[in-house]
Amino acid sequence: MEYKKLNEEEVLNLEVGTFLNFGNGDVEEFLGFEDGPIYKVYKDGKAVDQKEYYALMKKSNGEMHKFYLRVLQGATIESLDTSIGKCAYCGLLRPESEMVSETIWINHGQRTGRYCKDKPCGGYAQMSAEG
Ligand SMILES: [Zn+2]
Repeated sequence: MEYKKLNEEEVLNLEVGTFLNFGNGDVEEFLGFEDGPIYKVYKDGKAVDQKEYYALMKKSNGEMHKFYLRVLQGATIESLDTSIGKCAYCGLLRPESEMVSETIWINHGQRTGRYCKDKPCGGYAQMSAEG
C-alpha cells in the first residue's frame, strides 16, 4: 500500500473531494476549509495575529466533523492516490487494496460484491442474506 504523507503545502492545496486515510480503517472526504479563531503568536519579539483554519471532513457514514488544519499536517494523516471502494456490507469507504471480492448466495442466485479484507464483512453479508 502506497501512502503519501501530507506536508504543509499539500495540506493548503488540498482539493475538495480528496479522500484521506486516517489509519483507523475509515477514509474521509475533505470538504473544504473554514475560518477558525485568531490568536497572538510571538515573532521576533512582536505579537502578531495568526489565523487558525478548520478542515471540514466527512466520514464514510456521512457524519461531518472538523478539526484544526494543523492537525492535518501531523504525521498521522496520509493521503491516498489509490481508488476508493465502498464495502457492500458495512458501508465503509476503503482503498481498493484493502478490499476483496466475495460472491455470496442470495435466493438461489449469486452476487459478487466488494468487502473489507480485514473484517468478516463478506461472511456477515452471506449470513444476513440467509436470514
Ligand atoms: Zn466492511
